[in-house]
Amino acid sequence: MLKRIFLPQDRMPTQWYNPMPDLPTPLAPPLNPETHKPITPDMLAPIFPDSLIAQEMSQERFIDIPEAVQDIYRLWRPSPLVRADRLEKAIGAKCRIYYKDESVSPAGSHKPNTSVPQAYYNKMEGVERLATETGAGQWGTALSFACAQYGLECVVYMVKVSYEQKPYRKMLINSYGGTIFASPSEQTRTGREMLARDPGCKGSLGLAISEAVEDAATHDNTKYALGSVLNHVIIHQTITGLEVQAQLDMIGEKATHLVGCVGGGSNFGGLVLPFLPKKLAGDPVRFIPVEPRACPTLTRGEYRYDYGDMARLTPLVKMHTLGHDFMPAPIHAGGLRYHGDAPIVCNVVAEGLCEPVAYFQTECFEAARLFLETEGFLPAPETSHAIKGAIEAAKTAGPDDVVVFLYSGHGLLDLASYDAFNHGLLTNFELPQRDIEEALKRCPVVE
Ligand SMILES: *Cc1c(COP(=O)(O)O)cnc(C)c1O
Repeated sequence: MLKRIFLPQDRMPTQWYNPMPDLPTPLAPPLNPETHKPITPDMLAPIFPDSLIAQEMSQERFIDIPEAVQDIYRLWRPSPLVRADRLEKAIGAKCRIYYKDESVSPAGSHKPNTSVPQAYYNKMEGVERLATETGAGQWGTALSFACAQYGLECVVYMVKVSYEQKPYRKMLINSYGGTIFASPSEQTRTGREMLARDPGCKGSLGLAISEAVEDAATHDNTKYALGSVLNHVIIHQTITGLEVQAQLDMIGEKATHLVGCVGGGSNFGGLVLPFLPKKLAGDPVRFIPVEPRACPTLTRGEYRYDYGDMARLTPLVKMHTLGHDFMPAPIHAGGLRYHGDAPIVCNVVAEGLCEPVAYFQTECFEAARLFLETEGFLPAPETSHAIKGAIEAAKTAGPDDVVVFLYSGHGLLDLASYDAFNHGLLTNFELPQRDIEEALKRCPVVE
């Protein structure tokens, strides 16, 4: 048995996969929030570079990965596919379980798969500075790492409550040369207005997005970067699923269950979408997205047009949503608390091609503990949802089945949440149906 399956570096994929031309129903277009007319590329130009806008709308099935991006990817790619045989034994599984280990990147998660090309395309178009927001800090880390590789300035608006609670992410971003502001900040009009109204405001992801977008729109040399949800992000993340296909081919295995946690949908989409053409042609491979019961976007949200952010600045996108002003409970998987999901992922969920499931955070931490005791590594709280999903899938799988899950990141900077779990201090949250219905009433009605 091979424990760790390595793809030789000269077999790293040289193209990303774009699922757009293969979607059974075309993606609903993003709409201008005022006119409800489809948005045009020039409306995105103040905040994104042309090459990424082109990818956002591309119908090309495969997109070349620039040499200079491959060069940075090779710092950690191809990432290993690992057989979790000790976990299999512990749960009495009849099937095989593998995990695709994206925690080996410099930032410790899958996010550099898109931060690197985003920094590269901006650099190529003469941009000098990138602005972004970060919640828990993983995306800020990934973008500051990527900016450091290409000599770009990186400005991160970090939700104040996380800025104060998670000092190590902040230090890591600073070490990569990034500048970090607690949001609300004095740097933007949005931030100053909020502070004038409420000096004690601890911020929110929606507010931090508004600050980063305003920063990009008001500085000529600056663009904005987003770490999930958008089509180009999903495209960049498909490198993981493409590598998994090559790695399974190497050992003569065929995936029957693909499992990933879902925050904005990028690591899950990147893993499963390269398998979409085969699934549409009749391959019975199952796609299983896993989300928190406290933020049950795919399992309980409504598929409709909504804003991407709380301040209602972004275009309207068709997705599963809990309502743009949904306030998530303070669960430890900070990366899984978004009210919506990537339109591409929602499209395939709406087609009935995925089987979404939701779990409580304590069940996920218990799965993480079993993983620690058997496979040895400490997963990010987000990743523990994928582990829980994989364990549940494996329990009912047969001897011919192969469960593959995406190990989206390590938890070495999330030790405080393990400390809370170890001391029995974690609580579970279930979102009341009434809250969902109330929030959905405030969604825009699109004719
Ligand atoms: C950001 C993050 C996620 C969630 O984001 P997706 O876009 O859904 O992939 C999951 N795991 C880790 C470790 C993350 O940093």
